[in-house]
Amino acid sequence: MKRVGVIGGGQLAWMMGDAAKKLGVELVVQTPSKSDPAVSIAQDTVFAAIDDAKTTEILAQKSDVITFENEFVDLEALSLLANQGVCFRPRLEALFPLLDKYHQRCYLRDLGLPVPQFLAVDGVENLAAKIEHFRFPVVLKSRRHGYDGQGTFIIQDLASLQQKLSPAANQSQFLIEEFIPFARELAVIAARSVNGEVVIYPVVETQQEQQVCRRVIAPADITLNQAEQCEAIAHTLLNSLQAVGVFGIELFLTQDGKVLVNEIAPRTHNSGHFSIDACQTSQFEQHLRAVCGLPLGNPTLHCQMAVMVNLLGYENSDSDYQSQRQQLAAIDQATVHWYGKTESRPGRKLGHVTVLLNETNQKTANHLAQTLESLWYPS
Ligand code: ADP
Repeated sequence: MKRVGVIGGGQLAWMMGDAAKKLGVELVVQTPSKSDPAVSIAQDTVFAAIDDAKTTEILAQKSDVITFENEFVDLEALSLLANQGVCFRPRLEALFPLLDKYHQRCYLRDLGLPVPQFLAVDGVENLAAKIEHFRFPVVLKSRRHGYDGQGTFIIQDLASLQQKLSPAANQSQFLIEEFIPFARELAVIAARSVNGEVVIYPVVETQQEQQVCRRVIAPADITLNQAEQCEAIAHTLLNSLQAVGVFGIELFLTQDGKVLVNEIAPRTHNSGHFSIDACQTSQFEQHLRAVCGLPLGNPTLHCQMAVMVNLLGYENSDSDYQSQRQQLAAIDQATVHWYGKTESRPGRKLGHVTVLLNETNQKTANHLAQTLESLWYPS
């Protein structure tokens, strides 16, 4: 497999660029806009929305295998291509149970994996009776197309829930789930090869603000048993899906030490960006290895710890933030990854910075994350 077609041209595809060069693989990207990050690293680009399956047919003609940077595709239409022999990795069957958050929760529950209590809602009728087993706050989620906290709402009472649900044109598109007062949020990146080999990265702690990932600390400060629970979840899930490629798994660690699954991403994931600088094999190289049918690489850390901070937009601007990037890059063992987006908007992921540490100390790691953020965000 020499030419990999990637559906989506954002930063996740852009970060495959270096790995592709290293492996001697060519990337062909399907993305809507010339200014999307991965256009600069692709050998060839087809310009179209990522759910435009007609264009994916052209992508397929230019590629040996097709993979995903973004899963919001038209699976029904892509199935026709798969039936004609186009090779998708992961296979489409591994995506079908995941794209709708309600279906995903059902799939995980049916596999026996621990998930928060959940319920699909199809309207405001009998809402109070339906959610009588839930205590407020509850979490309301759009079933489809939610990302970076868009479409996730923490709801404090029944009146607010009714209000949120009533104006919706199609109320069947929501999921209600119990609010988990987690001790910490965790994530794990796992990869599965064409031969069914699974490798798992160190479990990390992710820190969200307003439902958006701000920082990642690798490894997470958890017990061996908790790490093993996360790894077991990853094994069960990837094997059950017969997934090929990298998957990101978001988890909650409850206050009594239990691990619950929050969400599965069938692709490389923000919580794995630390692996570019901190691991023997980055998640991006790992993903390309898996989809190209190569043996998987070693996922272990080559340092004691790593701290990754997302550089999120905080204003509307076309600045390239040179001075802040230089200050961040001047920190010992720091690497700044700048995605080259031409416009900044509040909340937009513009880049990230990873700093390696030679000691295992959560306090130092959290303090460092604060320092990095103070250099990025205006005070
Ligand atoms: P998205 O797909 O938009 O990233 P998630 O389902 O991952 O949405 O939710 C984003 C964040 O919202 C989570 O990282 C967590 O901080 C919070 N969250 C989501 N579900 C729950 C829940 N059931 N209990 C508590 N917090 C939650």
